[in-house]
Amino acid sequence: MTETTDLAELERRAAERGPVYGEGAHIVCDNLVRIYKTDGIEVVALQGLDLLIDPGELVAIVGASGSGKSTLLNILSGLDVPTAGVARVAGSDLLTMASKERLEFRREKVGFIWQQTSRNLLPYLTAAQNVELPMRFAGRSRRERATRAAELLGMLDVGDCASRRPAELSGGEQQRIAIAVAVANEPQVVLADEPTGELDTATAAGVFAALRRVNEELGTTTVVVTHDAQVSERVDRTIGIRDGRTSVEVRRRSEDDGTRVVEEYALLDRVGRVQLPKGFTEALDLRDRVRLALESDHVGVWPDREES
Ligand code: ADP
Ligand code: MG
Repeated sequence: MTETTDLAELERRAAERGPVYGEGAHIVCDNLVRIYKTDGIEVVALQGLDLLIDPGELVAIVGASGSGKSTLLNILSGLDVPTAGVARVAGSDLLTMASKERLEFRREKVGFIWQQTSRNLLPYLTAAQNVELPMRFAGRSRRERATRAAELLGMLDVGDCASRRPAELSGGEQQRIAIAVAVANEPQVVLADEPTGELDTATAAGVFAALRRVNEELGTTTVVVTHDAQVSERVDRTIGIRDGRTSVEVRRRSEDDGTRVVEEYALLDRVGRVQLPKGFTEALDLRDRVRLALESDHVGVWPDREES
């Protein structure tokens, strides 16, 4: 396509391209890149990651250690700044945002829950005081803070823990209180990085149920990074990350008769790239180059081998 500065022509071309990528989505990553530089060595933690999440969705993110899950969540929470690409959360552009906006974004639009229970709560404050703290920063009245803290702790089944300090609470209780802290200022988005990673299975199920309740009752868009297969089975959409890119997606839904249907997809990026599952490439020894054929309703992929 030829270069032009004619606005009418540029607009015509934009209209031809159709709607903006991710319009209507609550979380949009388009070709997101994050490169870490330490001592002259570059680590590409995210290499062109695409992701769309709709308002009110509850999504699990899974992937091997080092695949870029925490990097992604740190960017979406406004803690870290991407190197290139597009990242938008609840209408805020995370690449161009000024530091004042970034602070407001972190205080009001997103809530974050870390894996380490000790990182989520201040040890010298009670559970209720921990939940009230973000509301204090946001300038809410004392009465409003107390009422909302009690409501949230009650909703997450830790109402009886209100006056205890973290050291007097179990890991599961601490994480449920951390969820209350995260949603104190009514954020539109909740992000949790392996929130059940330090807990046993039964406790983890309780914490996940608390996240689900927040998602259902407060309508917050919720993204949970997890290793826990049980958790990823209980969400409607699980997104797999491999080498800093979204690679597969599993969707689960219930049929009218109650049976659960599980469908697995590979993700197709905007220029047509697909990552084949490792199991497929290994099974047929697919390497370097494959032959493709367009059929009426599917695309065939064959190994590049001489016929013998
Ligand atoms: P995950 O959470 O999936 O285990 P991470 O997002 O923590 O993965 O890490 C992705 C890659 O980026 C890894 O190779 C990791 O070593 C690297 N990485 C993460 N954080 C940093 C950092 N602050 N400095 C340099 N490299 C980092
Ligand atoms: Mg991580």
